Amino acid sequence: MTQQNRRRRAATTTKTDPWQEQRQALWEVCQQMYQRGLVGAFSGNASLRLPASEGQLLVTPTHNSYYGLKPEELVVVDLAGQPLSAGRKPSSETPLHLEIYRQRPDVMAVVHTHSRYASAAAVAGREIPPIIDEMVSSIGGAVRLAEYTMPGTADLGRAACRALGSHQAALLRNHGVVGVGAGIWEALEVCDLVERVAQIFVLAQVFGSGSATPLAPDIIERQLALLRQRRSAG
Ligand SMILES: [Zn+2]
Repeated sequence: MTQQNRRRRAATTTKTDPWQEQRQALWEVCQQMYQRGLVGAFSGNASLRLPASEGQLLVTPTHNSYYGLKPEELVVVDLAGQPLSAGRKPSSETPLHLEIYRQRPDVMAVVHTHSRYASAAAVAGREIPPIIDEMVSSIGGAVRLAEYTMPGTADLGRAACRALGSHQAALLRNHGVVGVGAGIWEALEVCDLVERVAQIFVLAQVFGSGSATPLAPDIIERQLALLRQRRSAG
C-alpha cells in the first residue's frame, strides 16, 4: 500500500472523511431505489468510482436495509473488492461491479435493481427491444439479456458485460437489472427507465402478439448518430 493510500485509508476512518460528498450521493440514490420500488429493503446494490483515487469504489454494504442505512456505513473497497474502511462488509455483488468497472472505463457508477417488470422479462428470457426513443438516447438501444450465472460471482459481471456491450443497461437472466452511467444519478435513472420500458413492453402485448413494435432501424441509426455527436461534444 502506498503512502498516499495509507493516508486515504486513515482518513476514511476519521471525521475528515474525504468521500463525504460521494457517500451522501450514493446514500440518496439508495433511498430513491427503495422508494421507487426498484429494490426490496435488503436487495439490489449500487456503487461509484471514487474520484482522484487509485480505482477505489464506494459500495453498498451487505445485509443492510435501505431504510436503516447511514451514509457512513457505505464501504470503500479497493480494486480487489477488499474493504478499506472499518465496519460493514461490502455487498456480495461487489464482483459484478468490479468486473463492469474493469471492462468499461467510461462507467463511473453501477446500480443493480430487482424491479418487477424488468425482472419478469428477465425470467421470461426476453430482451427489451428499442421500443421508445428514450431507450436509444439513454441506454444505447435494446436492453439485452445476460445469460444466467450465479449471483455474487465475477462470472455474473462477465455475463453482464457481454450483454451490456457499449449500452447503459442489461437484464440479468432470472435475476434483475444492471444499469451504468457517468455518475450515480445517471445509473439510477437508467434502471428507472428500464423498469418503465419493461412495463410498456409487457402492456403493449395486451394488444396482441407482436404489438410491441420496435423503432424502425433507420430511426435508431439516426438517433444513435445524434447520441454519438452529443457525447463527442462532451
Ligand atoms: Zn441481485
